[in-house]
Amino acid sequence: MTILITGGAGFIGSHCCVTFLEAGHDVVVLDNLTNANSESIERLKEITGRNIIFEHADIRDQDALELILRQHRCEAVIHFAGLKAVGESTQAPLLYYDNNVAGTVRLLSAMDNCGVRDLVFSSSATVYGDPKFLPLTEEHPLSAVNPYGRSKLIIEEMLRDLSASDPKWRFAILRYFNPVGAHESGLIGEDPLGIPNNLMPFIAQVATGRRENLSIFGNDYDTHDGTGVRDYIHVTDLVDGHLRAYEALKTRRKGDGCFAVNLGTGTGYSVLDMVRAFERASNKKIEYEFAPRRFGDVAACFAETSLAERIIGWKAQKGLDAMCRDTWNWVCKNPNGFSQPAE
Ligand code: NAD
Ligand code: UDP
Repeated sequence: MTILITGGAGFIGSHCCVTFLEAGHDVVVLDNLTNANSESIERLKEITGRNIIFEHADIRDQDALELILRQHRCEAVIHFAGLKAVGESTQAPLLYYDNNVAGTVRLLSAMDNCGVRDLVFSSSATVYGDPKFLPLTEEHPLSAVNPYGRSKLIIEEMLRDLSASDPKWRFAILRYFNPVGAHESGLIGEDPLGIPNNLMPFIAQVATGRRENLSIFGNDYDTHDGTGVRDYIHVTDLVDGHLRAYEALKTRRKGDGCFAVNLGTGTGYSVLDMVRAFERASNKKIEYEFAPRRFGDVAACFAETSLAERIIGWKAQKGLDAMCRDTWNWVCKNPNGFSQPAE
């Protein structure tokens, strides 16, 4: 079975390629490399010993998509391609609607023309907006508080509309909580451009000495130590959820082919919990200071995970220590990300 992985050169997509290749599928990676380095594809070959077809293309180019789907006889799509920086999305909303929303319209149109009707979509816990209750179940009301979140919500609604319009479509919508960690080989991992927005890559760069100290955004939240609480999930667990979701999708009956599930661990950790766990894994002191709350942040966010267990037979396996250990291994071997050769 050949599967098209859009955004497959990026952080989560590259790990997903490993999982699908190891499960015996063939993959074609499509990426425009706006937030990735083609070195990740070389590393994938090294990890899996398999050939990987890489198509340098943009999901907004429908002709290119149709050519690729036909040429490689793709039977399903795992759709990671998208821009994901919340701050940037508030500065450049049209870019996000064009890239994420219009890009997905082009992708679905190309799939329709080529008779490919199975898709797994990267959504996000951001579609729950400000949590009204915790843990977040899939029934929690949906809303979005920034253009990035709205782009995910619009795509979700679009998939539900399409599925209702014609039972031939089958969609798995996966709402990620906070993906961290890296492949245990240390050959692939998260390689943010510039100053990291997210906590884990920032902490990792403080541990390697690339940044002086961490600013902790807020210590007066209503949480066990006053700092923000999130549901961190190991990226290899997360991509295992994609394989399970894809397998579940293939067995769905016509007309019952669109489901949304949370991919999280169900456990929330605070920023200070993360700092201490990373100190244990790296044996380094993480210098930090408290700073004002970051605009738009919520106090706590973590998942109810029983629906994923029921629908796709998946449950996260790895704990916080493995997440920190594997991140540390990746940054030690690649202190400048993919821009220098692995040791
Ligand atoms: P990433 O930036 O590492 O990967 C996205 C990939 O898509 C990149 O390689 C980028 O070059 C590519 N891309 C972007 N626009 C494209 C386009 N128009 N055409 C072709 N390729 C394009 O990000 P990631 O962390 O791996 O995230 C993957 C997906 O998961 C994204 O859709 C993101 O919104 C979603 N997600 C991520 C997180 C997270 O915290 N990392 C959380 C929730 C959801
Ligand atoms: N955070 C922080 N300093 C940073 C980056 C993040 O204190 O440099 C905090 C942030 O306020 C939140 C948690 O770490 O409470 C996770 O932030 P991240 O951006 O990784 O994920 P998100 O907020 O998008 O869930």
